[in-house]
Amino acid sequence: MIVQKFGGTSVGSPSNMQHVTSLVNDGNRKIVVLSAMSGTTNALVEISEALKKGKIESAKKKNKVLLDKYVKVAAVLLSKEEFKAKAAAYIAQIFEEINAAIEQGYSIDIEGEILSKGELLSTHLVYFYQLQEGINAALIPALEFMYINEEGDPQIDVIKERLKPFLEQHRDKNILITQGFICRNHKEKVSNLKRGGSDYSASLIGAAANADCIEIWTDIDGMHNNDPRYVENTTPIRQLSFDEAAELAYFGAKILHPFCIFPAQEFNIPVLLKNTMDPAAEGTYISKTIISRGFKAVAAKDNITAIKIKSSRMLMAYGFLKKVFEVFDCYRTPIDMITTSEVAVSLTIDNDSELEGIIKELETFASIEVESEQSIICVVGTLVADKHGMAAQVTEALSSIPLRMISYGGSDYNISVLIRSEYKSEALQLLHQHLFQNS
Ligand code: ASP
Repeated sequence: MIVQKFGGTSVGSPSNMQHVTSLVNDGNRKIVVLSAMSGTTNALVEISEALKKGKIESAKKKNKVLLDKYVKVAAVLLSKEEFKAKAAAYIAQIFEEINAAIEQGYSIDIEGEILSKGELLSTHLVYFYQLQEGINAALIPALEFMYINEEGDPQIDVIKERLKPFLEQHRDKNILITQGFICRNHKEKVSNLKRGGSDYSASLIGAAANADCIEIWTDIDGMHNNDPRYVENTTPIRQLSFDEAAELAYFGAKILHPFCIFPAQEFNIPVLLKNTMDPAAEGTYISKTIISRGFKAVAAKDNITAIKIKSSRMLMAYGFLKKVFEVFDCYRTPIDMITTSEVAVSLTIDNDSELEGIIKELETFASIEVESEQSIICVVGTLVADKHGMAAQVTEALSSIPLRMISYGGSDYNISVLIRSEYKSEALQLLHQHLFQNS
């Protein structure tokens, strides 16, 4: 059994839905996890935001625009009357439900309901199309087995237990279609795994079903060794270890949801990144095994804020860092990078929504400097013991760029530097030249 996840662009039009159908229909048993059609979740977020602002009429208007889109999609996708009728009835039901949700007024639960409709629509449309084509497919409802707890963390044991009966019930089916992204929370209300969460769904489902492989199909031929938006001649990385992939997914390689690697790693299920538009391309294979050492890729993460916390009381004292961390803990703000000296500590955060409170609190025992518009440049690979001067290669490549922080040794898999965002493009290009092209 394998799990195949297709993103929003892969199911973004009737012809893409037909293409995905021909890709998955290869005679092998699989679970197919689908995102919403591209643009739909954004449209649903807009409806929910209009509702939050009390703009009921605007929310309804946006809903009507989306309804019209789906009526057209179904008309092009399906040709047999029986399935046209099924799709028309389902689309009408979903948009009535959104209207009913709008009537109820905004709440976080209503937002969860509205945002879930994109994946429900895409999976039903693809399912109807597969039935029309005589494919041996079933639809299994994510809202009956994907569960998160009060903290928003997936409950893998619950998912496993509740998915099992569906797998048994449809033993005779080759293709089991389900929704990415959506789930139920501890109150049984419809919720989600946050934006881009379908990858995470696929990985959790792969872990719960003990799949042989989790395939993530997008519109690019695997993870590239640098950001193609800033650097020419980037190439797909053929193989990555789980640790390397997790660093890359977190530090800006947008192709994969940052949490997606963890369930796969925990249950040791390989992840394969493939291109829907070019299925013959090899893609990127992510597994436990480290096939080659050395630099694999460079990625950047923007909108980083650096905070320098300075205090003479830190000199030879213990408990200072504890005090610092407690402040961030209290404001539920994760720290990304950290470097220390004897009298100061510099750290970075990517969520500055609680910055004011954090600074106020830190100022009670230290002097604080804050710099925004910073980028973390992260060089990922298997860098064990720096036998070959790997850190030196990174800093030499960046010798013309002012480095605000350097972090090395936290793991064997990354060297990160913090720079002002205006230097990001130059830094990515320099690292590409020095680490991948000169060798
Ligand atoms: N449809 C959701 C989103 O656009 C989840 C996903 O596509 O991964 O964020």
